[in-house]
Amino acid sequence: MHIGFGMDVHPLAEGRPLILGGVEIPFEKGLLGHSDADVLLHAICDAIIGAMGEGDIGIHFPDTDPSLKGISSLRILKEVKRMMEKNGYRLINLDATIVAEMPKLKPYFPQMVKNISDVLNVSEKAINIKAKRTEGLGYIGSGKGMAAYAVVLLKKQ
Ligand code: MG
Repeated sequence: MHIGFGMDVHPLAEGRPLILGGVEIPFEKGLLGHSDADVLLHAICDAIIGAMGEGDIGIHFPDTDPSLKGISSLRILKEVKRMMEKNGYRLINLDATIVAEMPKLKPYFPQMVKNISDVLNVSEKAINIKAKRTEGLGYIGSGKGMAAYAVVLLKKQ
């Protein structure tokens, strides 16, 4: 068994779509980044890459790569799944927390779980998504950005 941990932060900006777990969520701002800036999927990818001992997401998917510009992070997750297959790993479970002051994210959890379990080809029961507010504190509480944390357990075949 191999455990992996990932975290990511992206700033919020006007004129950007808010995409979390591959779901576009209606909101006045969206996350800013080179890809679609899906902070949840980036934390998950980093956790899986970490569990495999393969460094981090930036090594494999650098934000200087023009082919990654504006792409859905579900495609990055798909690539990470391919790395898992190549290295002989299977996902046992994944637990993640999105840290965001607004908007309410709970209604979108089922679709996020479905997107992630579809790409990773695991049961939806293996994927747990949560959200936390920071009660108005810090850069997240003031609506300047969002963060996400994820832990995964992988089994080496
Ligand atoms: Mg990121």
